[in-house]
Amino acid sequence: MTQIHDLLCTLPKIDECLDDLQGATQSIPSLLVKLAVRQCIENERQRIVHDHKAGKPSALLTKEQWREKLLDAVSRKNHRNLRQVINGTGIVIHTNLGRSVLSAAAIEAVQQAGAHYSNLEFNLDSGKRGSRYTLVEEILCDLTGAEAALVVNNNAAAVLLTLDSLAHNQQVIVSRGQLVEIGGSFRIPDVIAKSGAQLIEVGTTNRTHLADYERAITADTALLLRVHTSNFRLIGFTSEVSAEDLVRLGRTKGLPVVEDLGSGSLVDLSLCGLPSEPTVQQIVKAGVDVVTFSGDKLLGGPQAGLIVGKKELIDQIKRNPLNRALRIDKFTLAALESVLRDYYDLDLALAAVPTLKMLTQSPDGIKKRGQRLVRRIREIVSPWCTVSLQATISLVGGGAMPEHGLSSWAVVLQPAQISLTALEQGFRRLPAPIIGKIEDGAFLLDLRTIADHEIPALLTSLITFFTQIPSE
Ligand SMILES: *Cc1c(COP(=O)(O)O)cnc(C)c1O
Repeated sequence: MTQIHDLLCTLPKIDECLDDLQGATQSIPSLLVKLAVRQCIENERQRIVHDHKAGKPSALLTKEQWREKLLDAVSRKNHRNLRQVINGTGIVIHTNLGRSVLSAAAIEAVQQAGAHYSNLEFNLDSGKRGSRYTLVEEILCDLTGAEAALVVNNNAAAVLLTLDSLAHNQQVIVSRGQLVEIGGSFRIPDVIAKSGAQLIEVGTTNRTHLADYERAITADTALLLRVHTSNFRLIGFTSEVSAEDLVRLGRTKGLPVVEDLGSGSLVDLSLCGLPSEPTVQQIVKAGVDVVTFSGDKLLGGPQAGLIVGKKELIDQIKRNPLNRALRIDKFTLAALESVLRDYYDLDLALAAVPTLKMLTQSPDGIKKRGQRLVRRIREIVSPWCTVSLQATISLVGGGAMPEHGLSSWAVVLQPAQISLTALEQGFRRLPAPIIGKIEDGAFLLDLRTIADHEIPALLTSLITFFTQIPSE
C-alpha cells in the first residue's frame, strides 16, 4: 500500500493554486480566495488520512478536478449566506424560511430608513429628543382600541418584558392547559422563571375553571396570565376560562389580566374561510389589560413583539430598563409602520400584505396559475422529470391554526432519470434554492407560497439545475 506521506505529497500547494486561479477570481477578495483554497486542501488532506486509516484506496484528483473543486469552494464562500429561497412548501408563515414576506411599500420604507437620516428619536414638532415608540403607538391604538402601545424585538421579548415589569418577585397564575412550549425553546414556565416571577399553576391539563384561579389568588399575586396555545390543541373533555370571565375576576380582586396572543391577527380571518380566532381588538375589548403578539405571524410584518393595553401598565413596561435591551431597530419600525397603515383599510390589507394575500388566495386562482406554469416547467425539466399539477394542502404555519389545511395546487416533479434525493439536495444547493415538499415519491411545489414575481427566479433555478445534470 502507498505510504500516507506519498499520498499527502500529491496535494497541491496553496500558492500554486492561487496563481492558477488568479484569472478566474480577480473580482473576489484575495483573503477570501486564500481561505477557501486552504480549507479545501485541508478537507482533502483529512479525507486521504481517513481513507488510509480505513485501509481504503484514495482516489486522487486530477488537475482539472482540483481546479473545479477550488473554484466551487471559492464561489460558495463568496456567496451571500442569507439569500432568497423559493418556498414551495405551502407553509405560509414558515419560521425556518423567514416567516412573513413584506409588501413593496414596507420594503420601500425599510430602504428609506437605511438610505437616509430619519426622525427615529427626534421630535420634529418640538425640536427635542423624541421616542422611537411614538412612531407606531398611535396607529396601534387606533387599530386595536388600546390606550397605549409599545413595540420590542419579538413576542418572546414582549412576554418577558411584560412579566418582568408587572410581576417580578410576585406570582403569576396560569392554567395548566396553557403551559405550552411554542418551539425555538420558548416555554411559558421558563419565561416566567426568567422574568423573576413565580408560576402558580391552576386547574388540570384539560380543564380549568374560574374557581381554580380564584382559589390561587393570594396577597403575592401580581397578575392572571392567559396564553394562546398556538401550535397545540386540546380536544375532547376540555374547558378554559374565557377572557371576559377572567377579566371580571381580575377586576373584583384588583389584578390585571395579561394575554400572550401569539399570532394575533387584526383581521377576522373567518370572513375569508379560515378558522375563527379572536382578533387583537376583541381581546382588548374583552377588557384584557395587556395583550402581546408577534409582528411577523398573522400580522404579516417584520419580526417584532407588540404590546398593547392600559396606559398605566404600558407606562410601567416602558420604564423597565430591560426595555432598552429589547428595543427594535429603525428598519423594523419602518416596515412595521408601513404594514400597520395597510390595516386602516381591511380590503387594502388583504390585497397588500403578502401573508394575508397568500392565506386568502382561492384554490381556483392557484390552479389557473399552475396550469400556465406547468407548461413552462415541463420544457425545462424534460426528459429528467415528468410534470403534472395536483391538488394539495397548504398550512398557515407560525403556530397559527395548526389543524386547518388550506386547499391548494402544486406542480409535481416526478424524477425519471435521477433520484428524488438528488433532486431535493440539488435544489437546496442552487444560488436561489428551491424548497418543496416530498409526497408519495414526488417533489411538490405548492404554488400558494410562490408569488408571481418569484416565478422568474424559480425558472432560472430550474434551468441552472437541469442544464448541469448531463455533465455529471
Ligand atoms: C409565536 C409565539 C410566541 C413567540 O413569538 P415570537 O415573535 O416568535 O418571539 C410567544 N407566544 C405564543 C403564544 C406564540 O404563538
